[in-house]
Amino acid sequence: MMISAGPARAAACIDRYVDVDGVLDFVFCEGLPDHSLATHHAAARLGLEEALRRAQHPRVVPAGYPSASQPVTWAEFLPPFRHAVLEPPYNLGVAQGGLSASEKDALFVELCAALLPKGSDSVVVAHDTSPCTPSCTNRRKRSSCACGYFDAGSEWWGTFFWTVSHPDAPHMLVILGSATD
Ligand SMILES: [Zn+2]
Repeated sequence: MMISAGPARAAACIDRYVDVDGVLDFVFCEGLPDHSLATHHAAARLGLEEALRRAQHPRVVPAGYPSASQPVTWAEFLPPFRHAVLEPPYNLGVAQGGLSASEKDALFVELCAALLPKGSDSVVVAHDTSPCTPSCTNRRKRSSCACGYFDAGSEWWGTFFWTVSHPDAPHMLVILGSATD
């Protein structure tokens, strides 16, 4: 399994989302051996490593992290995903006066179409975002640990860590979120 650019439409759509100050990190993996929980867990680790690499952060993902990975239904996934996409700590597009409700709706539809596999046969797994070990709760230690990626969002906005795959799609999408104001 390796990092990939994802579906053809994904990169341009992610660029537009980043342009309006969306805060989620999206990472695609390909070469999936299967759609098992173990594969989702491995992809989550790869995605976290890639998100840290893009942020030029020298953190290492500890063995076993994330410590818990739980399948969730599409219906359980979609509302918090929509919230994480559209309601970051600062309004989307705030530098340009803020996106209207209809602009947000359009962005979400576009993002789902470009990034997510089609619908309800998808396999969605939610991953734990708490510190990797009890001894890693010290903030100074966490600053060098991958679990520290989730420190900012732990303050109030929230932390988000999902993997999404589909039996017919070659890519697994890793979604990571952690931000504060
Ligand atoms: Zn840690």
